[in-house]
Amino acid sequence: MTDQKSVVVAIDGPAGAGKSTIAKRLAGRLGFTYIDTGAMYRAVALWGLRQGVDMGDMHRMEQLAAASQIELAPGCIELNGENVTEEIRQPEVSSGASKIAVIPGVRRAMVAQQRAIGERTSVVMEGRDIGTVVFPGAAVKIYLDAQLAERVRRRLSELRAKGQEVPEQDLLAQMKERDHRDSTRADAPLAQAPDAVYLDSTKLTLDEVEEAILKIVRARVANGKEFR
Ligand code: C5P
Repeated sequence: MTDQKSVVVAIDGPAGAGKSTIAKRLAGRLGFTYIDTGAMYRAVALWGLRQGVDMGDMHRMEQLAAASQIELAPGCIELNGENVTEEIRQPEVSSGASKIAVIPGVRRAMVAQQRAIGERTSVVMEGRDIGTVVFPGAAVKIYLDAQLAERVRRRLSELRAKGQEVPEQDLLAQMKERDHRDSTRADAPLAQAPDAVYLDSTKLTLDEVEEAILKIVRARVANGKEFR
């Protein structure tokens, strides 16, 4: 994207790798807009679940994705004017999101919205296909990973902080299933872009991950250019 002045920092990786936490912090440090693309798939899945639509119904889910009005404000996600920030974190919505994310028409609708945002403003955008499909020309691409046991541990403590107790074995099974579906689907599977920097956060602190990525951003983007 040589003619665009906005900068895209793309962060992809599996569930629980720390993408959201890191992307939020980076966006704050850089003054960019933070975009959680998973929240968009979750919002569409929530709408389908509420309507009683089968998550495998490609036609209906594509219609809902195309008709959905999703607003991503800091700390607040709205679906058709309603605040759904908490509701989209329910386990059935996580699983529903990864089911509808295999549907090409759903992905087309989400990708179009994501590109529109990234073309008008500098973003730190996190998801599964940002560096591979949504912004293959992103200035910075990070593939953030962590060992499965550590990703489960982090998710468990996040849930506990919200007062939710989920058996560890259940969470492990859910995350494995979701990662498998996300990385084996035909359309835009979770994958590291060839030019992405691989970062394993298993043994790193948040500060260390943040500094490592900021270093890459500064080296690739900051060279005298203004961010917008
Ligand atoms: O990131 P998060 O875990 O909230 O994403 C929920 C689901 O949405 C993922 O498991 C994945 O199936 C889907 N997703 C996707 N592409 C993205 C972001 C999320 O397919 N860019």
